[in-house]
Amino acid sequence: MISLDTNIERINRVGKTTAKKLAKIDVRTVNDLLLYFPYRYDDFSQIKTIKSLKAGDQANIVGEIELIQNKRSFRRRMYITEALINDDTGEIKVVWFNQPFLTKNLKIGDKISLAGKVDNDYTGLSMNSPVYEKVTSGATTHTQGIIPDYHLTSNITQKQIRFLIKQIITLADAVPDWLPTETIKRQRLLKLNEAIKKIHFPKSWQEMEEAKKRLAFNELFLVQLRSQLVKSELEKASAPKIIFKEKETKEFVASLPFSLTPAQKKSAWEILQDIDSNKPMSRLLEGDVGSGKTIVAALAMFNVFLNGKQSALMAPTEILAMQHYETLCKFFKNHNVKIGLVTGNNRTMNYESGIINDASKKTKSTFITQKLDIIIGTHALIQENIKFNDLALAIVDEQHRFGVEQRKTLIKKSNKNIVPHLLSLTATPIPRTLALALYGDLDLSIINQMPAGRKKILTKVVPEEKRTAAYEFIRQQVKDGRQIFVICPLIDISDKLGFKSVKEEYEKLNKIIFPELAIGMLHGKLKPQEKNEIMQKFKANEIKIIVSTSVVEVGVDIPNATIMMIEGADRFGLAQLHQFRGRVGRGEYQSYCFLFTDSKSDRTIQRLNAMGKYHDGFTLSKIDLKFRGPGELYGISQSGFPELKIASLFDYELIKDAHEEISVLLQNGINNYPELLAKIKENIEIFHLE
Ligand code: ADP
Ligand code: MG
Repeated sequence: MISLDTNIERINRVGKTTAKKLAKIDVRTVNDLLLYFPYRYDDFSQIKTIKSLKAGDQANIVGEIELIQNKRSFRRRMYITEALINDDTGEIKVVWFNQPFLTKNLKIGDKISLAGKVDNDYTGLSMNSPVYEKVTSGATTHTQGIIPDYHLTSNITQKQIRFLIKQIITLADAVPDWLPTETIKRQRLLKLNEAIKKIHFPKSWQEMEEAKKRLAFNELFLVQLRSQLVKSELEKASAPKIIFKEKETKEFVASLPFSLTPAQKKSAWEILQDIDSNKPMSRLLEGDVGSGKTIVAALAMFNVFLNGKQSALMAPTEILAMQHYETLCKFFKNHNVKIGLVTGNNRTMNYESGIINDASKKTKSTFITQKLDIIIGTHALIQENIKFNDLALAIVDEQHRFGVEQRKTLIKKSNKNIVPHLLSLTATPIPRTLALALYGDLDLSIINQMPAGRKKILTKVVPEEKRTAAYEFIRQQVKDGRQIFVICPLIDISDKLGFKSVKEEYEKLNKIIFPELAIGMLHGKLKPQEKNEIMQKFKANEIKIIVSTSVVEVGVDIPNATIMMIEGADRFGLAQLHQFRGRVGRGEYQSYCFLFTDSKSDRTIQRLNAMGKYHDGFTLSKIDLKFRGPGELYGISQSGFPELKIASLFDYELIKDAHEEISVLLQNGINNYPELLAKIKENIEIFHLE
């Protein structure tokens, strides 16, 4: 019997090979497959008559095969399958390339459904390589109606995945609906099983919208509920009081190479007051890229140090963790602060025998967090067997979620049974009201101004014919001493490390365009040590150009870099592009952001042009949403909100509805809803492991 937990390998027509491919998109069980939602749809809901077709139409037709044959084109070195399709109103030529096996399956007299674009060549109208399907019992999966499209790995086709999901779709009924029935009724939502069925195979756009609403509600509901629960748990806990050392703090600030902006001062003051109490702080520090959040966080860590306690700082990537390590070592060089770095592969400390930089097993296990004042790291900090001595402050950079569960894990690592204060740093500038609705457990500090003297980054979508000119401009900038980032997108989603496109681009720039310049390459397949080396060389201005995947997206700080060049820019969300852009313009020099795209679509160019006009992340995410087409379900990810995939920050009504619903349920007592409780537990664990 097939159930939700059944391994995908056991489904009809999935062998070991297909299962492996599916594993690349994290689909391992029937349940995973059911919850692998499409990201967009094609509208083939209207069957057209052949007579009514016009060149350029996206059309679905149904007719009979009058003629079908294979030809070999020696000039073009390929097989061509030609067919003539008739539907009583007229006939049209259909052509497929390099699929000679088609004639085995499709015979004269067969009824066939075709979906694709209508072209016009010298012989009249034709369809080139349409999706086809034999019409047997009347039901079609690929060519009629609203057809789902999935993000895929190479070697799996849309047809395959639709076929697989169709096979198991009735198992949606076995997925437990964790939302209380009363909520479903009050909010007029679809049941979960219905929503899952309809999100895959909607019969109309209205069905798609209904399914989308339910699934978006799920996301917004869970985010808010978790936040509420965290809040009530924290009200019971207590944290170490960090006494504000005013004199030392003032001296420290005066010793910095710059003076703090008023917004930085205000935020620092809010944080320092908050931690000067036994009530655990939960605070979000919001500030656009480059607004200077690190120094504000450092002031809090400094006071914790002066109180003789420990701080931990977590970053999403190794590069960023290493960078924070260096920055803090520099900030605190006159203060004898003991700082350590812990990542999956790296153990470094700045004290005792100088710097230990060793990833060997022994150093790993004996890494002495007990004696350190500040421990910086990636998630390895939570995951590995690392013991803190007296943790008073946990800081998370560029990531929203770090809830009670993670704090508990940290407490377990500490000898004292008290929760640490929490500070989250984020570059997603969402308005206060929205932040409070979504993350009711967090207080908010906002850095709403940039350090003095920053110039706007000139941003342009560069057409292909100006590429050479752009390269010349880059050459000139390098001559003037500046440095350049080049970002490449993922080619396909199974290539999560983004290796392929970066490598190609690197080869091209290194060998053909800029053979005289030192160029480095960054991608997910490099060892941390190698990454670090490249970043060090870039910092020292030994490397002039870095070609990279999105690993440089967050946080990297190289004030000498002045050009951010982005290939395949249309594949990124505007908020994400804004993050990339934030890597330049951090020093005194005028900086530039060049966007390249293969897309010729006006819409895409228009969307990208918004980057030239707007310079804050929030406005840009809003604009991005406007450009989502009607058939698009998933937006390109909204940076900073990994938990919102279908829902968006701008679903104000839905956010409010979910909020009200939660108040009612909490009043009734959350323990009366066991399925919901189970869901929350699972959900918290998921984030915990991320
Ligand atoms: P983000 O908020 O994006 O994390 P950072 O903390 O990395 O930004 O700061 C960006 C750059 O600005 C760093 O080089 C930092 O030293 C510098 N910086 C921070 N605050 C100021 C300030 N008040 N005046 C001038 N430069 C500053
Ligand atoms: Mg930062």
